[in-house]
Order: sequence, then structure tokens, then C-alpha cells
Amino acid sequence: MTSPHRVLVLNSGSSSVKYQLLDMRDGSRLAVGLVERIGEHGSRLVHTPADGERRERTAPMAGHEAALRAVAAELSADGLGLDSPGLAAIGHRVVHGGLRFTEPTVITDEVLAEVERLVPVAPLHNPANIVGIRTARALRPDLPQVAVFDTAFHTTMPEHAARYAIDVETADAHRIRRYGFHGTSHAYVSRETARLLGKDPSEVNVIVLHLGNGASASAVAGGRCVDTSMGLTPLEGLVMGTRSGDVDPAVTFHLRRVAGMSVDEIDELLNKRSGLVGLCGDNDMREIRRRIDEGDERARLAFDIYVHRLKKYIGAYCAVLGRVDAVTFTAGVGENAAPVREAAMEGLEILGLAVDAELNAVRSGEPRLISPAGSRVAVAVVPTDEELEIARQTYSLVNN
Ligand code: ADP
Repeated sequence: MTSPHRVLVLNSGSSSVKYQLLDMRDGSRLAVGLVERIGEHGSRLVHTPADGERRERTAPMAGHEAALRAVAAELSADGLGLDSPGLAAIGHRVVHGGLRFTEPTVITDEVLAEVERLVPVAPLHNPANIVGIRTARALRPDLPQVAVFDTAFHTTMPEHAARYAIDVETADAHRIRRYGFHGTSHAYVSRETARLLGKDPSEVNVIVLHLGNGASASAVAGGRCVDTSMGLTPLEGLVMGTRSGDVDPAVTFHLRRVAGMSVDEIDELLNKRSGLVGLCGDNDMREIRRRIDEGDERARLAFDIYVHRLKKYIGAYCAVLGRVDAVTFTAGVGENAAPVREAAMEGLEILGLAVDAELNAVRSGEPRLISPAGSRVAVAVVPTDEELEIARQTYSLVNN
């Protein structure tokens, strides 16, 4: 009998669970799926096995346990159930690991308690991750389960990049500092960029631009993160689909004092009704480009604000790194939106940055260079794969 070689990756949100089952002998997907609207009307599971038809099931799912049981049933129907001997481990995406978790970690009661202690700094994310972990442990208490933290890759940031310039005692009392997120993606993409350049990660300095619905930039020096744009929460930094990114913190006092908004209303405004959606009503870059092509001024301005912020971070991270070998675009917008890449690089020749129009226009799922041949700094597109990275980290931990 072959030894266990499959890893189930779970990404539990407040009302959803995304999952992938991977074969770690070659990193291939055996099944991918999603449960949506957990605990709401119209819960739905969509399951796609690698060698079969997509299956969709609508059934009431009151909570994560019902959702995970439904996932387990779908996997069993493919002969890949949670009880099958080939399953080596479950890898959980956990958003916030604070300063304690710098590496993927086998989940114990003590680890879970520590993740719970971080809820005050990640109130929107960690509770859902914890529910997912508890449920999966109840279903397979004997199986190794690993937490892979979104913050872990950023724990190498030096203190001068991680600290806000606010009163040290107040900051420390409330664990206020810059943690950064999307770390699994930044780790994977910076390493794959080195591979694309034919170098070891320790030899290259990379600026990674993870532009999805959430968006963040990171400066990675020799494989270690030295700065990133998200902070205490994922709100800081770049303009995102629905988040403002950087604003003067005084905007919040002003809204409180002058507009009479509550803290929760301001939170909702900046996280859900700002960014591209707040600026022009759309957060999908495809739709924004279509509107720009039709001459829509609001869409144009939203695009220009998005790109302006991006350029500021690219410039800043060139300064932070000193020497830059590559700037890499990834995630939904970064991988697909050639106009964003073109606009972000425009006028940055002084930093050695440029895109080749023809290479930039190529549509591909493969890592690729889009800078002109012979450029001082490579510009690359590298599709991110957070699930594969979580699975790899999980598997290597339980196999040691
Ligand atoms: P997340 O994981 O943060 O939800 P993704 O990385 O999947 O997001 O990115 C989603 C975003 O990618 C969409 O909101 C859209 O703006 C953008 N996107 C996806 N496909 C395209 C495309 N073909 N052209 C331009 N933008 C795209």
C-alpha cells in the first residue's frame, strides 16, 4: 500500500468553505469545491472532481459541520473520503497568526487556544477559521491537521517596517503593529519568480503585487519579506475592490465627529463600500475597463487612483530594497489585467522598469516575463496558488 499522499486544504470563511484535495506526489488536484451560504437560505455545494463532471447540490446547511459533512460525502462518492487511508493531513488557511506563529503549525488544543486569543486583532477572519478547524478535528480527530497562517511570511519584517509610529506602550498593550496578509501567496509567488529567473530565492529581491479583490504589495529580499502594504488588518495599503487602502486616520475621527457615523459604520464604509466599488460602483476590473472604453469618467478616475497608489508602492519598495531583480504581478487582476500592468509600469523607466506590449498582451496560465529582453529589472506575471502552497507546507510538516 502506498503511504498517505493526499492533503485536503480548507479555507473556511464565515458563510463559506472552499476546499481542494491535492495529490502531493505531483501536486495535482483531485477535487475542488465550494460551499456557499452556510447558515443562510439556499446553502449550495459545488464539487468538481478532477476526472468527472461538476456536481451541484442545494441543501440546508445550518453550520460548518453540516457543510463539512456534505463535502466529506462528495469526496466519498469519488472514493476519496475523509476516512480513506490515502489522506495524510488537512491543511487549514488561518488568516491571523500574530507574532507567535511564524511557521505552519500542527494544530493542538493549545495552538487553537492561541488562535482564539488573536480574535481581537482579526475579528472578521479568525472566528470562521476556528470553526472550520474545530469541525474538521471533530470529524477526523486522529488525523494531523495543520494551520498555515496568512501572516507568517511577514513575521520576518524588521521592527522599523512593522511598527507604527505611535506611543509604544499603547501599541504593545493592544498588539497594534503591521502584520501583513496574503503571506502564503507572497511566499509562493516570490519563490516562483526566482525559479522563473533561474535563480535561488536567496539570490533575488522581488516586489510582489498581489492584486485580487483584496490587494497587497510586498518587498522580498533574498526570500524574506522586509515590508508589506497591509497592516494591523487587511485595510491598509493599496486601493482594493471594496477597501480604501491608505487613508489619513483622521478621516475616521472626522466621520465620527462631523458625520456622526458609528465605529461599525465607518468600518463598513472603509472595508466594504470604498476602493474601486466606492469610487465607481464596480469592483471587477473587467467591468471597469469596459466602462473606460465607453468613455465613462468615473471608471477612468477609479482606475487612475488604483494605478497611482500601485506606483507609489512600487517606488517605495524599490527604495526599501535598494536593488530590485523583479516586479511580479499576481492574483485575479495582476494575472489577467494587461492594462493595469501597463499603466503601473508607465514612466518607471528610471527605475529600470518597462513592459513589452506584445508580451504583456499574451494570455497564459504560466509564469512568464513581460519586460523587454535585456531589461535591468524583470517584470513578471506569476499565477498564485495558495492552495498548493498550503498543501505543500502541510505535507512537508507531517512528513518530517
Ligand atoms: P480574491 O481571491 O481576492 O477574491 P481574485 O484573486 O480571484 O480575488 O481576483 C478577483 C478579481 O480579479 C476580480 O474582482 C476582477 O477584478 C479581477 N479579474 C478576474 N479576471 C479578470 C480579467 N480577465 N481581467 C481583468 N480583471 C480580472
